[in-house]
Amino acid sequence: MISQNKYNRYRSIIGLKCPKCSKGDLFIKKGLIVYSGMLLMHEHCEVCNQKFEIEPGFWIGALWTSYPIVVLIEFPFLMLALFSETLGPWIPLGLMFVAFYFAYPLMLRLGRSIWIHNWIGFDGIR
Ligand SMILES: [Zn+2]
Repeated sequence: MISQNKYNRYRSIIGLKCPKCSKGDLFIKKGLIVYSGMLLMHEHCEVCNQKFEIEPGFWIGALWTSYPIVVLIEFPFLMLALFSETLGPWIPLGLMFVAFYFAYPLMLRLGRSIWIHNWIGFDGIR
């Protein structure tokens, strides 16, 4: 059973909220799928003043959390391309690119949110 604390944590990650207070927004533009300025972030939380980029190059590590999201979204299309006898490889590969185009803001923003929640807890830096 998921505790209330963990539930709030997951809600904070998906809602792209501050990992410390779960109230301030991580990104300037709200929503998981935003195309213009998708990676524009606040430097500090507007509510609790937690610094988001806790060290130079901090967000490079978010590639580790974005990659599994990419795999999760693209893997079914890859399997279809490899093993579907009726569709052939090109239709699933085309769908793979379309899915990537529409989902890449989600991959990047959610990857950053998971990354920062991994390093900053409710009581600040772990
Ligand atoms: Zn905050």
